[in-house]
Amino acid sequence: MNEMTMRHAIERKREGETLEPGVWEAVIASYMDGETDDAQMSALLMACVWRGLVVDEAAALTGAMVASGATLSYPDDVFVVDKHSSGGVSDIVSLVAVPLVASCGVPVAKLSGRSLGHTGGTVDKLETIAGFNVMLTMEEFVRQVETVGCAIAAQTDAFAPADRRLYKLRDRTGTVPSTGLIAASIVSKKVAAGAKAFVFDVKCGTAAFMRDARAATELGQALVDISARFGRRAHAVVTDMNEPLGRSIGTGIEVVEAREMLRGASVDARAREGCLRIAGEMLEVAGVSDPQNVAAAALDSGRAYEKFVAMIGAQGGDVRAMEAMAPSVREIVVTATADGYVAAIDAVALGNIARELSDRDATAGIRVDVRTGQRVSSGTPLVRAYGEGAPLDRIARAFSIGESEPAPRALVYAII
Ligand code: URA
Repeated sequence: MNEMTMRHAIERKREGETLEPGVWEAVIASYMDGETDDAQMSALLMACVWRGLVVDEAAALTGAMVASGATLSYPDDVFVVDKHSSGGVSDIVSLVAVPLVASCGVPVAKLSGRSLGHTGGTVDKLETIAGFNVMLTMEEFVRQVETVGCAIAAQTDAFAPADRRLYKLRDRTGTVPSTGLIAASIVSKKVAAGAKAFVFDVKCGTAAFMRDARAATELGQALVDISARFGRRAHAVVTDMNEPLGRSIGTGIEVVEAREMLRGASVDARAREGCLRIAGEMLEVAGVSDPQNVAAAALDSGRAYEKFVAMIGAQGGDVRAMEAMAPSVREIVVTATADGYVAAIDAVALGNIARELSDRDATAGIRVDVRTGQRVSSGTPLVRAYGEGAPLDRIARAFSIGESEPAPRALVYAII
């Protein structure tokens, strides 16, 4: 695509026209081989932000990005599912749902990202288990899915490299927030990784990419629609991210919370609901009947924990070390200084603090004792901090105590 034809595409998009699939293919090919530079690409991206993409365009862009790199596939009789989270705080869902679903006989192949901003990354969490290898080769990854039933590995540059380049440019040019661009970016990596069905956990709220339920639902719908164009069965679940999903925030400390849930120890009801809803949807897209009850039974029977242990062993992790994991420093309790109701918990602030703590010590982090809406008195423990030099004032400021009881908030806003 020469400079003139690219300029024509930019102008058409600027005027709100729909670009044909062949144009998207040419745009991506031309950007990847260096014929189109960042200036023209940025202009096109900004036009996409303002004008939006129809599903046909987002699907064409997705296909072009898939074609820019390697793809994986599994035998016809191996129905592999995958899940994606748009990023949250105390999001332990992958750690629990991946082995849980695999323990029900549905293979799960999960490529995960690293921590980004205030949100945690599953591979960073798993790397706190001594010996755990997230850098699997594609052959190792596929073999483990086929033999153990599940694997979680770090996303590689091999899949959808065009998305990686484009994402960096979008980050530099303020062109990340576009439903079509986000959906194409997410689905391209999922399609390339070869699973036959996907579940998208679209987080929604103050600590999420998508602040309101309407925008999150629109993204969920785009993810499902684009996946269908590639023959992938997909569900999207819009879930609350106005407060941390679980009780623990940090890397190793979240592995500990997931371990306790998988072992059937007493756990937070909201976190359990979040894990079971996503696991149930993963079973449903794989055609399992009565999926929510099947998921709960696998968790309660200990089968999911056995699969977690098998996955850790297969990826070189030290299972004994995982079983012994605990914060290595003493806890400091931060208490409420007034009577009232917990009106809000600033998950962005807590996520940022937990990242600072766990970057210094993988076992450090934060455990939240209260939920939004809970009645507290002066002196009630709000949170426990584990880590040298934990910023106790900043942690305390993340909790707002009010006089009136806030309206309860559902965990699941929509299922698409
Ligand atoms: N996550 C992605 O993978 N891509 C986006 O564009 C936004 C979030």
